[in-house]
Amino acid sequence: MSDCLFCNIIAGKIPAKKVYEDEQVLAFNDIDPQAPTHVLIIPKKHVVGLKEAQAEDAELIGQCQLAAAAIAREQKIEDGYRTVFNVGRGAGQSVFHLHLHLLGGRKLNWPPG
Ligand code: 5GP
Ligand code: ZN
Repeated sequence: MSDCLFCNIIAGKIPAKKVYEDEQVLAFNDIDPQAPTHVLIIPKKHVVGLKEAQAEDAELIGQCQLAAAAIAREQKIEDGYRTVFNVGRGAGQSVFHLHLHLLGGRKLNWPPG
């Protein structure tokens, strides 16, 4: 997907501050952080978003969540953090390559806006 921003980050064509990488997923700092820790965890496979994901993507989605938990442990924000998939434009999804937000390092309000 040459016109996909996150595919281009995976390909190394657009720089990003990587915090975690394995065979299936990549994690990097959000360019416009909304909390002291704001990491995006993405599958290396191009999946448009959660509502487009198929049963075959279930493990990948789980791997994103487990990578988030590992990063949270490493960044010592386990006191309270949040993982979020924004699904669709109405929820603020602006990049159409599945990505999990990991937010932490400050008090997180509920319900979110
Ligand atoms: P969404 O709004 O789709 O849930 O999240 C997209 C996220 O990608 C936003 O938080 C935005 O700040 C981040 N983002 C957009 N462009 C770039 C970029 O070029 N590099 C990085 N690291 N993050 C980006
Ligand atoms: Zn992509």
